[in-house]
Amino acid sequence: MNAHLQPQTHLHRVELKSKDYKNETTSFWCAGCGHYGVLTGLLRALSEIGVDPNYLVSVSGIGCSSRLPYFVNSYKMHTLHGRAGPVATGVHLARPDLAVVITGGDGDGFSIGGGHMPHMARKNINMTYILMDNHVYGLTKGQCSPTSRTEMKTSTTPYGGVEIPLDPILYMLTYGATYVGQAFAGNVKLASQLIKDGMEHKGFAFINLLSQCPSFNEIDTAHAFKDACEQVPDGHDTSDLNAAMCAVNAAKQVGRIPTGLIYKTERPTLDQRMAELVKHVGGHKDYDLRKIIDLARP
Ligand code: SF4
Ligand code: MG
Repeated sequence: MNAHLQPQTHLHRVELKSKDYKNETTSFWCAGCGHYGVLTGLLRALSEIGVDPNYLVSVSGIGCSSRLPYFVNSYKMHTLHGRAGPVATGVHLARPDLAVVITGGDGDGFSIGGGHMPHMARKNINMTYILMDNHVYGLTKGQCSPTSRTEMKTSTTPYGGVEIPLDPILYMLTYGATYVGQAFAGNVKLASQLIKDGMEHKGFAFINLLSQCPSFNEIDTAHAFKDACEQVPDGHDTSDLNAAMCAVNAAKQVGRIPTGLIYKTERPTLDQRMAELVKHVGGHKDYDLRKIIDLARP
């Protein structure tokens, strides 16, 4: 049995500074883009955890935010538009000992890749998804996205929109994500704390980071995001799903964006359940994807 095919019980750790996780590739986002804050938060979280870059895979789809893996010292896969989730799932199932981080935007995640989101959550796949949510398509120059505010004028909605925006937090709570957090990308301390906790969480962690696009979204500026963000109240029970939904809805009703850890629970992960299945069906002691494939053969 190859040791690297066993379910992940802990992250492989080393001692590195956050700058050691920064790839030599220069970040090429526009000046003032919120994604710089996300990158800083991620690098800080990796350092605080001490993730071994040799056991780290960053996966993205397409979009400005999906360039992020280029700037991180890790194995990386820059995949198709909206398909980061399925590719990352394959990486995780083949090598459950690796730490897998997905980064991408609101269009990539909830429009083109929207069909994949509920399945990562309900299967509780042991990965971390960082959504860099700027309420617009940035790379393709300013079209309306699933999280755009209705009144926002974009190149595809020149008179404002006719649809209500999708709420990524309510969506992921509904479909069973076991770790859900939100922060303004400029609040690097909170963003990095949520990423760190999310990566250490055993299960599907979803972190929504509000990240301004000064080039194509004049409404959701850094100041607007910062002013609207409000920490969930003291005493918020992060283990109570109904309380999490109520906290989000209560904040939304008064035009606020709830931030911090919103929900966290424990549930068997996909690799744990598959390991149990292999033991039960095949009598094998350890999780091994190749043995599962062999069992499925006629
Ligand atoms: Fe950032 Fe927007 Fe520029 Fe893309 S277009 S790099 S999202 S500011
Ligand atoms: Mg976007």
